[in-house]
Amino acid sequence: MSKHEYETVRVPIEDDNPAIVRDNSKCILCGACKSVCKFSQGVFGNYSLEKTGDKAICINCGQCTLVCPTNAITEVMDYHKVKEFVKDPDKIVIFQTSPSVRIAASELFGMEPGTLVEGKIIAALRKLGASYVFDTTFGADLTIMEEAKELVDRIKNGSKLPQFTSCCPAWVNFIETFFPEYIPNLSTTKSPILMEGAMIKTYFAEKMQIDPTKIVNVAVTPCTAKKGEILREEMNSSSKYHHIDSLRDMDYVITTRELALWLKEEEIDFATLEDSTYDDLLGRGTGAGLIFGNSGGVMEAALRTSYYLLTGENPKDVFLNYQPVRGLDNVKVAEVTIGDTALKVAVINGTFQARKFLTTLKETNEQYDFIEVMSCRGGCIAGGGTPKTEIPLPDEIKLQRMNGLYQTDADSQLRNSYENPDIKELYQTFLESPGSSLAHTLLHTSYVSKKQMLEVEKMIV
Ligand code: SF4
Ligand code: SF4
Ligand code: SF4
Repeated sequence: MSKHEYETVRVPIEDDNPAIVRDNSKCILCGACKSVCKFSQGVFGNYSLEKTGDKAICINCGQCTLVCPTNAITEVMDYHKVKEFVKDPDKIVIFQTSPSVRIAASELFGMEPGTLVEGKIIAALRKLGASYVFDTTFGADLTIMEEAKELVDRIKNGSKLPQFTSCCPAWVNFIETFFPEYIPNLSTTKSPILMEGAMIKTYFAEKMQIDPTKIVNVAVTPCTAKKGEILREEMNSSSKYHHIDSLRDMDYVITTRELALWLKEEEIDFATLEDSTYDDLLGRGTGAGLIFGNSGGVMEAALRTSYYLLTGENPKDVFLNYQPVRGLDNVKVAEVTIGDTALKVAVINGTFQARKFLTTLKETNEQYDFIEVMSCRGGCIAGGGTPKTEIPLPDEIKLQRMNGLYQTDADSQLRNSYENPDIKELYQTFLESPGSSLAHTLLHTSYVSKKQMLEVEKMIV
């Protein structure tokens, strides 16, 4: 009998889904999960359970968790496992926090949306037992260094364009499943948490003379899809570097909501915590890295560094507040000229819109150079692991969270990834240069078509 036969109202979920899980006893069969999966994410309704061999297709975006009124669907909880590791004296538990966590977490503790609570998050993680706390914004700067170099190389060498961003794992899952013909367009750069994870277990471990097998890498993120991303077989570059089979670059991902649950269980009073600061070496990010959390942020950050790579000069002020790629519009298109290079770029909000965009692109063959896609509308500030203060999450709150990150970028002393002193030192003392052989080994990845999942019956025949 088909295990999903009765899923006429709800979205079907596999038992081994690494990102989301459903407690059937809490489900009131409202159908909100199915609607968001179909009409916001462009997944449900775009495959047939008959053809997949009764296997549910999921890109792990977690948007269904945000709309479920009874919390029947949640992220797969991993914080209990991390809790055990922080008690183990033989383990070195290293946390990193994504850009939008420091903005969105405030709502879980009764503060105004958009309030920056970076110092309190770091203090909270130290109280929970962190050995070190780093900023994924450093990883975001590193992603930009490699991704902008890749873009400039593709433009100069006449290679495959447009280049698509690859830092959203749900978008990568979407491309691999539904549009694998665009895999050559995906940037090969890893996402910020995986870059940072690889650097912690190689560069940082060597500098600090730490046995990498003792490190437990934990990312605190707004994202459920990253729970699946860290399990990808190829995310083991530290294992290749050290020639140790069992090493994974990242060990756990916990969401902003999981962190809040953990703090409540430990009765830590978040609001009264004294601010702390990130640890050295991998703990500093620029404003460009911070805005990764917003739709359009990766594009804006990449344009700043591409400007530098193409002209040798700092980007003009317009790229420090680049309005054409900001906001919640479905598709944001801009034409930019950098030196003597004209670029056409697009930013797409959500995979439903990406499906429409790619379908049209295949027909029109319109020429673009660089395209950013984030699976969650608004970007990671509206990720599947962010606070559920209202259902559905109002645009007003999304914009408040976005503005919180843009304001923090505007207030930053350093706003370009290539200016980050820790990034400079990393390249000077370890990686050599963006796109170097070692950078490729540790910071780049590859993709595979999963289209066969949509048509299992054909494979059996
Ligand atoms: S996680 Fe995303 S793709 Fe998976 S069922 Fe939920 S909404 Fe659909
Ligand atoms: S949104 Fe939640 S309660 Fe509604 S059908 Fe889906 S799982 Fe059930
Ligand atoms: S937009 Fe951000 S939070 Fe949403 S799936 Fe992509 S990376 Fe995760």
